[in-house]
Amino acid sequence: MAKFKVLIDPGHGGKDPGAVDNGLLEKDIALKVSLGIKARLEAAYEDVQVLLSRSTDVFLELKERTNKANAAGADILVSIHCNAGGGKGGFETFRYTSASQSSIKLQDTLHKAIMSKLGGIDRGQKAKNLHMVRESKMPAVLTENLFVDVAADADRLKQASVIDAIIDGHVLGIASYLGLAKTKEDKPVTQERDINVPSSWAKETWEALTKKGFFDGTRPGAPITREEMAIVVNRVLKYVD
Ligand SMILES: [Zn+2]
Repeated sequence: MAKFKVLIDPGHGGKDPGAVDNGLLEKDIALKVSLGIKARLEAAYEDVQVLLSRSTDVFLELKERTNKANAAGADILVSIHCNAGGGKGGFETFRYTSASQSSIKLQDTLHKAIMSKLGGIDRGQKAKNLHMVRESKMPAVLTENLFVDVAADADRLKQASVIDAIIDGHVLGIASYLGLAKTKEDKPVTQERDINVPSSWAKETWEALTKKGFFDGTRPGAPITREEMAIVVNRVLKYVD
């Protein structure tokens, strides 16, 4: 069982598209980013399980989302959104107005990790009386990943590399906050041997017996069948005679 449970909450969904502009739907971006966070966090780190409040385009009340996180006993909650409201655009995060020290630390770690990957305008680490960060019992942060109604941000949100940066930033920040260990990438890979080259420990014997004519000298690493064995035995018996 995984040591840490992370609840990722893709904002909006179903009949609630969130912010809509420039051909972008906030609910779709939030879901894409959230699914990416789950896939990459679980693949790259040990001892972590990512629960999603929704994994498809369905509508959920805010209460259903925090209830799920609280019931699951999640260690942290991150709610994924995109912004709207014009201006210059950029990235910002929210914690509850009277957030715990853990929430403040989670926000700081996550915010810096995402900015390091995403770049652009940093609108800062903010506090607001939002349901998702108020009603969750664990450290909780809401991220506002660029503005769908600011042309420059919308252009960025249409690029796969920018979505990747948002995903990677969240993964990095969550792993750093929880102190997750990377999965071992250098797992011993079974070396495919070259059957045409004798193993060093057998080389001398192989060459001596080949010289005597018991083997034809080819494919020293290949398995032998019973009929091939019979032929070898026959050659040995003739040699002994
Ligand atoms: Zn939203």
